[in-house]
Amino acid sequence: MGQNTPQSWGRYPKVKASQVVPIYWRNELPNLASFGQSILAYGYGRSYGDSCLNEGGVSVDVSPLRKFIAFDDQNGLLRCEAGVSLAEVLELIVPRGWFIPVSPGTKFVSVGGAIANDVHGKNHHKAGTFGCHVTQFELLRSNGERLICSPEQNSELFRATIGGLGLTGIVLWAEFRLKPIVNPYIDMESIQFESLDEYFEIAAGSDKTYEYTMSWVDILVGGESLCRGKFMRGNNNQQPELAAKPLKKKFPLIVPIDFPSFTLNNLTVRAFNEAYYRVQREKHVRKVVPYDPFFYPLDSILQWNRIYGKRGFFQYQFVVPFSHGREAMHDILGRIRRSGEGSYLTDLKNFGSIQSPGMLSFPRPGLTLALDFTNNGKKTRVLLNDLDVMVKQYGGVVYPAKDARMSAESFQTYFPEWHEFEQYIDPQFSSSFWRRVTESASVPSYA
Ligand SMILES: Cc1cc2nc3c(=O)[nH]c(=O)nc-3n(C[C@H](O)[C@H](O)[C@H](O)COP(=O)(O)OP(=O)(O)OC[C@H]3O[C@@H](n4cnc5c(N)ncnc54)[C@H](O)[C@@H]3O)c2cc1C
Repeated sequence: MGQNTPQSWGRYPKVKASQVVPIYWRNELPNLASFGQSILAYGYGRSYGDSCLNEGGVSVDVSPLRKFIAFDDQNGLLRCEAGVSLAEVLELIVPRGWFIPVSPGTKFVSVGGAIANDVHGKNHHKAGTFGCHVTQFELLRSNGERLICSPEQNSELFRATIGGLGLTGIVLWAEFRLKPIVNPYIDMESIQFESLDEYFEIAAGSDKTYEYTMSWVDILVGGESLCRGKFMRGNNNQQPELAAKPLKKKFPLIVPIDFPSFTLNNLTVRAFNEAYYRVQREKHVRKVVPYDPFFYPLDSILQWNRIYGKRGFFQYQFVVPFSHGREAMHDILGRIRRSGEGSYLTDLKNFGSIQSPGMLSFPRPGLTLALDFTNNGKKTRVLLNDLDVMVKQYGGVVYPAKDARMSAESFQTYFPEWHEFEQYIDPQFSSSFWRRVTESASVPSYA
């Protein structure tokens, strides 16, 4: 992170912290009470909006807390400091026959960040969220207390911290359960679909027998079909002989500069979608692939967020109950198409019904769609405000980890649990996101 300027992945809003305080050692912790200002932990800034930002307050950089503490390879229990990244966890555990229980679409997130946003992955329908696999962690509060939290000990604080947006204190280390694997390869399939109805059909036939499912969608096609796309599904490969097959190391590309803001427009998105859809020549393709390109295709291009230009971009992810899935998609996609704002990276998935322990967790049973929009100022905000109204109307919610602009009214409607949650917030902790969505007088004021 830059000096006093921690950034989020969407690069919007751009705000300054009063100071950035790194933590290196668990036995040399800063006296949080002495700051006299609001405090927030910062991991790797892979949250898209302002939930990892604390304008005018202290940003505690937890990323140097990077040690592994213990590994019980009989039971697959890993304990590590909260700044360890999922990439580092994978390097350690994959050669030993284990995998992360739940992984988001990038491995460059910290364990603390994965807990604070209770992240979900391609296996939500089978495994729930990351928080479902956390067995315990140590939480530092601003009064200097260090509390062990687990489903049995300080259990309310445990539930509040999972998906608690970093507001309950600083997670110093965590222990979580891993998933055994035979080898690091995935039997993957990619199936083209030509309408939302076809998506529903393939999803219904996949969620029982496939551990991982996720679809890329082209939302610009319109008409009765509503969208088209590629349904990706997979299972861990079970051939023991592949365990010894070395994984090829691929060096990532890098986006070295901010693209000019006109680069991404409806025409280029349309052209990209057409090419990406057609590059697969057969309707149904089957392959055995290493885990990296299957789980983390975007990690092969470092700093890809720069293609959206200096003004950054908004990611918008919502979930709506299945009972309203079709109607909601009809209205929401129609509104997006009329706006003329395109989304390159649009993911569609069915969330399952495994309940997270997290009090404020986002995932719940339903259809979830994640879209990326270039920040075109007021025009984009008006669109996203309209989408909020539709998501509310269909009983859905929007993901705080990806948000930089929803109103206090929207947040409080989506998450009525915030009142119960509030009592567990550390009195000295706050974030730009939290002030925006709970202090009704503070309407978003970013330029
Ligand atoms: C390419 C990409 C793909 C993604 N895919 C997914 C996905 O599939 N599913 C999904 O759920 N999310 C996804 N995300 C979002 C990302 O997984 C989350 O935002 C994650 O929490 C980021 O972790 P981080 O370490 O960067 O934390 P930051 O973004 O730095 O912080 C996130 C929150 O965690 C808190 N925090 C960080 N460390 C600690 C700590 N030690 N103690 C207490 N609080 C802490 C911060 O205060 C903040 O509230 C994706 C992001 C990107 C960029």
